[in-house]
Amino acid sequence: MQVIKQLSKMADFSLKLRRKGRKIGFVPTMGYLHKGHLSLIKQAKSKNDIVVVSIFVNPTQFGPKEDFKNYPRDFKKDKWLAAAFGVDVIFYPAVKNMYPAGYCTYVNVEELTEGLCGASRPGHFKGVATVVAKLFNIVQPDVAYFGQKDAQQAIVIKQMVKDLNMKVKIEALPTVREKDGLAMSSRNVYLSKSERKDALVLYYALNNAKALIKRGEKNSARIITAMRKMINAKKTARIDYVSMVDAGNLKDIETIKSKAIIVLAVKIGNTRLIDNMLVGV
Ligand code: AMP
Repeated sequence: MQVIKQLSKMADFSLKLRRKGRKIGFVPTMGYLHKGHLSLIKQAKSKNDIVVVSIFVNPTQFGPKEDFKNYPRDFKKDKWLAAAFGVDVIFYPAVKNMYPAGYCTYVNVEELTEGLCGASRPGHFKGVATVVAKLFNIVQPDVAYFGQKDAQQAIVIKQMVKDLNMKVKIEALPTVREKDGLAMSSRNVYLSKSERKDALVLYYALNNAKALIKRGEKNSARIITAMRKMINAKKTARIDYVSMVDAGNLKDIETIKSKAIIVLAVKIGNTRLIDNMLVGV
């Protein structure tokens, strides 16, 4: 396995392989790899000739009061895990090379980024779309893999690729969970022991919603009220949003239909967690 830090070297590597007709699968990450990332890597490995994983904690997607500086990093462990899972290249660029002095071009996907995480994290998706566009230009993958855990992100990236006529195919894969149901996330390390227990309420609330729907409940306001009640019962929990939206355009829906998704963001103590579940009937 190679670690490539230089942007031009990464681009050359991909170009050479593509000319030979090799298929490149790409998994963009911010590192601190866990089983969620590894499921994307496994899928990339099984469907492509070459797997590139990027590890880049992208400053432009963090707000000024967010956790860019403290975001967990462990490159040594990531390197070990990536090698064990058959990754061919870790692309590990430096911030100063991705955003050199004078940098001033950003990608803004409209509408889809206005609500949900876009509303509570202004500028977040502009940073995400920009870095992913840059990574696609450098790595030139055939297929790129994203997690359904970040549902809005996957939809935004799909739209960007469509709107900007990018050639890469986007695959969104299911959320990988801890044994007890908590969605895997690099940020879970921030949780104290008791917060870790409280954090399970996100998964319970989603499952409770699913059970209500199975019993015939179709009204999203009632489902959301039940979920909010469950979550608010935890002292450490502060809801950012709980919404039932159309899984295609992320617009709020009043009555459940085929392609519905329940999305939520909740702060447990100081840690902001997100999760979602497809619930369409
Ligand atoms: P991150 O390093 O958190 O930016 O995530 C990199 C990629 O891994 C994104 O496409 C995420 O959606 C995906 N991912 C993160 N957590 C999970 C998970 N629990 N299950 C599946 N994919 C995930």
